[in-house]
Amino acid sequence: MAEPIFRRLALLGIGLIGSSVARIVRERGDIAAELVANARTQSTLDRVMQLGIADRVELDPARAVEGADCVMLCAPVGAYEALAAAIAPHLAPGAILTDVGSTKQSVIRDVGPLVPAGVHFVPAHPVAGTEYSGPDAGFTTLFQGRWCLLTPPAGTDETAVEKIAELWRRCGSMVEAMEPAHHDRVLAIVSHLPHLIAFTICGTADDLEGESRQQVLQFAASGFRDFTRIAASDPVMWRDVFLNNREALLEMLQRFMEDAQAMARAVRWGDATYIEDRILRGRVIRRSLIEMKQA
Ligand code: NAP
Repeated sequence: MAEPIFRRLALLGIGLIGSSVARIVRERGDIAAELVANARTQSTLDRVMQLGIADRVELDPARAVEGADCVMLCAPVGAYEALAAAIAPHLAPGAILTDVGSTKQSVIRDVGPLVPAGVHFVPAHPVAGTEYSGPDAGFTTLFQGRWCLLTPPAGTDETAVEKIAELWRRCGSMVEAMEPAHHDRVLAIVSHLPHLIAFTICGTADDLEGESRQQVLQFAASGFRDFTRIAASDPVMWRDVFLNNREALLEMLQRFMEDAQAMARAVRWGDATYIEDRILRGRVIRRSLIEMKQA
């Protein structure tokens, strides 16, 4: 077995993503020799101990990071600034501070200025998830064959970046570096906008009155069912994603609304060719995803 990359890894937040990392760390043994978990509530930490997925739990984030050579923020991105402020004076010199947040410019904006000299900051985003949350939701194959995008600020220590890349490769991911603004635009269209649409369409269906509302649920066809799966995601996590990728999300939403208007116009005027052409584009994208093994 290869040497562990880290002596002690501290996870601040241990829900779907953090507990998946924890399970992999425990199972493989070559990522970190020791694992410390922190969460906002004692009940989550009690559950983590019951599940046996950390060596130690700490309710105080400052205590959790003491002596850790890698600290990973795994809480909702809106909590990052306060967490970073709480841990900054306690980070060990030479430690790596990384994260898993779904937005990257906001993380660099909120956390970057608080990182003490001598600590390496390597923002990251494993592009993998489910609609479930909490420490019971994690599983060891979550990141298998999925991308992890690293957005290190210019001048970041290359050894630190390579260690985080290796951590994610050992979790089963393919790793790529990306410029943070580009990351946020790409994720706005592939993830954040689809979630916004799913939350919205479920709200629209829920607003229908009486019998029709009942029948929406009773006869939910696969299209609506797929939306409800996405819409079951954690409200706090997604609230924070929307608020922290505001510009890119609003830009993609604007483009989407223009295209939806064009589709509405085609439907109104019976433009069969336009409608068919748009549906075909969807099929082509689906096929490409299957070929790239990302479906
Ligand atoms: P989750 O299952 O809801 O878990 C969140 C964890 O963070 C819990 O342990 C929670 O502690 C803790 N936490 C919540 N608020 C906190 C606060 N104010 N201060 C400190 N800790 C706090 O969330 P998740 O799905 O793992 O998401 C975690 C991060 O991964 C987010 O930044 C998200 O953007 C990113 N991400 C998510 C997905 C996805 O599909 N879910 C995919 C990729 C990246 P308690 O249990 O004690 O409340």
